[in-house]
Amino acid sequence: MDEKLGESSSLCPECLKVIPAVKYAENDNVYLEKTCPEHGNYKVLIWRGVADYKSMKAYACVPSRPEKYAVTKEATCPVDCGLCKDHAQHTCLVVLEVTNDCNLKCPICFASANERYHFNPTMEQIRGMFQTTIDYVNHPICVQISGGEPTIRDDLPEIIKMGKEMGIDYIEVNTNAVRFSQDIDFLRKCKEAGMDSLYFSFDGLTSDVYMKTCGRDLLAAKLKAIENCREVEVGVTLVTVVSPDINIHQIGDIINFAKKNVPTVKGIHFQPLSYFGRFPIIPKDENRTVLPDLLKEIEKQTKGELRMDNFIPTSCTNVHCDVKSMSVIMEDGSLFPLTHRAMGPPKDTCCVATKTRKEISDLWRYIDESLGADGEEAKGSWDEFIQRARTNYLTISSMPFQDVWNVDTERLKGCCIHTVTPDGKLIPFCLFNINSVHGKTLYRHEILEKYAKWGSS
Ligand code: SF4
Ligand code: SF4
Ligand code: SF4
Ligand SMILES: [Zn+2]
Repeated sequence: MDEKLGESSSLCPECLKVIPAVKYAENDNVYLEKTCPEHGNYKVLIWRGVADYKSMKAYACVPSRPEKYAVTKEATCPVDCGLCKDHAQHTCLVVLEVTNDCNLKCPICFASANERYHFNPTMEQIRGMFQTTIDYVNHPICVQISGGEPTIRDDLPEIIKMGKEMGIDYIEVNTNAVRFSQDIDFLRKCKEAGMDSLYFSFDGLTSDVYMKTCGRDLLAAKLKAIENCREVEVGVTLVTVVSPDINIHQIGDIINFAKKNVPTVKGIHFQPLSYFGRFPIIPKDENRTVLPDLLKEIEKQTKGELRMDNFIPTSCTNVHCDVKSMSVIMEDGSLFPLTHRAMGPPKDTCCVATKTRKEISDLWRYIDESLGADGEEAKGSWDEFIQRARTNYLTISSMPFQDVWNVDTERLKGCCIHTVTPDGKLIPFCLFNINSVHGKTLYRHEILEKYAKWGSS
């Protein structure tokens, strides 16, 4: 150990007991180490680059705590989660699962869809989950309808309509897009019901990638679904699960593909592979794509168009949970990044609306400073640039989910992405899904299986 960086707690991968953990620097890497009295010692790589890890801390915002807590008894994080009084961040995005069935059976499914039981809540029970969301989350309320695969439910448009009528401000649907590739009328119905966008699983640009991530060649279906989204004018965030063995070399191609498909494609979310759900491997450090690895690949594969320092933590969740960049796509197809770590961290609150206003004014200030008089000449008039920025922008973000190996309760306590459960709880998305080496979860299966008698099975 070169330097101790912090103390926290974690889970034993064997028995899921809460155990103390320490984070430290060694050979310019950051590790989390923990010991279960029964099952032994675990040392896991969590970051490459100690200075970079430390620099992220400057982006930590003043937490905006939830106004109400669904769990009032004392909790030992992450036991009795839901949210409890120790939770240090409000909810920005609620994940609401409407089924655990799916029209695919991906070998790396985080939800272990199509296994063991069928969770298909009725409309009234989904209404209950929307109501829990409304009870505990401040506006603007953003819900991601998820699963399993939500489009296997013919009543998805009614679900979306119900959520909007109840007061949900923004609804996106998390999908593998297979049905949307075959059934443009269904896509249209979802849009007419109030669906705002799609969180669209898109792992690469060659068939072999889909054979590995989904067990089927889905390339043609993905491309067709994007065409359908263009026709129906539904915005899409491409979500790419990134694995060093499968598709990390396609990052640059995926960014180029997104640029060509703007404005239908609004953004890309790169999701380093996490070891939960239907993914049985015990991870080795060399197989882990930690955030700096991903950003280095983006820099390399875009030939420096986007650099590591164009990615900043959103400062909404824990600073080691996510990063985001925003860019304008210029006439020659190049990216003009609007985000830069030189802009410095936000200085005020985490309230989404305030933060967004502040972010935008920071961005415009930064563009002003970056372009200057010469820049204007080189890139056209300021007005033209602003005009272009309105429709030709691309956000690229990443959030490595935690698994049972690297889970850190400090990150969980700052989490702002929560799964709403049928029993009235809001649980950090990672924590909801984490499972032991034996497939036991603390929350997902333990809760959903109880409700699996709901609906058809
Ligand atoms: S993750 Fe948050 S809500 Fe859940 S137990 Fe920990 S502190 Fe409480
Ligand atoms: S990863 Fe998504 S598409 Fe694949 S089986 Fe799981 S829920 Fe279905
Ligand atoms: S879901 Fe996981 S990775 Fe994302 S913000 Fe929450 S704790 Fe962090
Ligand atoms: Zn143990």
